[in-house]
Amino acid sequence: MSNNLKVLWEYQAAENALESYERTLVNTETRKRLVHQQQVYKNNQQKLKQLEQESVLLQNKMSEIASQIEILQKQMSEKKDEISEVSGYDLEDMFLDDVREMIKECESIKASVEVNKRKIVDIMHRLEKSETEIKETLVKMSNAKKQFDVLKEQHAKEVAAGKDDLDKLRANVTRAAKGIDPELMERYKSIKQHRPNPMAKLVGDRCEGCKMQLPSGVLQSLKVEGNIVECENCGRILYVVED
Ligand SMILES: [Zn+2]
Repeated sequence: MSNNLKVLWEYQAAENALESYERTLVNTETRKRLVHQQQVYKNNQQKLKQLEQESVLLQNKMSEIASQIEILQKQMSEKKDEISEVSGYDLEDMFLDDVREMIKECESIKASVEVNKRKIVDIMHRLEKSETEIKETLVKMSNAKKQFDVLKEQHAKEVAAGKDDLDKLRANVTRAAKGIDPELMERYKSIKQHRPNPMAKLVGDRCEGCKMQLPSGVLQSLKVEGNIVECENCGRILYVVED
């Protein structure tokens, strides 16, 4: 039994070595920068979408105001025609108030046109600003993409360079698995689902995994009877190192 646990302990070490190497391969500086550039690209893509939507809204608003101005200008020219028409008449025959009213209307239309023209100038400024931002965002996206491609290639090389070592470590794990009782392996794998290291050494009367002191009954079963025992606290398989 204890011999079987020694083999399982060695298996855990082989598995740890493989997993830790896999982690270093995916957590390189290049890979981190790669992920960062991907995020930069995505953020700017999002920003571009917003800017383009905003730009469309502003353009719609602008053409709306432009047609408003057109209507106002048409109204004004009609008023002007009316005024020039009456200017040919003898004023005595006209109601002076009517003329005053026409002029007042004309001025009011002119004021509205001015207000709308100022609105258009304001929108044009905003559109210019938006256009500049769109250009800047596109440059940022293109830079991020370029850097991403370079880093991707670098990272692929890193992974390729580590392939031999990775294969060796995988072979070690396969080799270490030989001779382990399938039922015990099953138990190990099920503990591994919630514990990175399913096995822990017994140090004195404590589990090394969780540092809990074990009751004497458990120690008896483990050390004297040679049973396979899991820590009552953390669930790891306890391993007694033989001197
Ligand atoms: Zn424990």
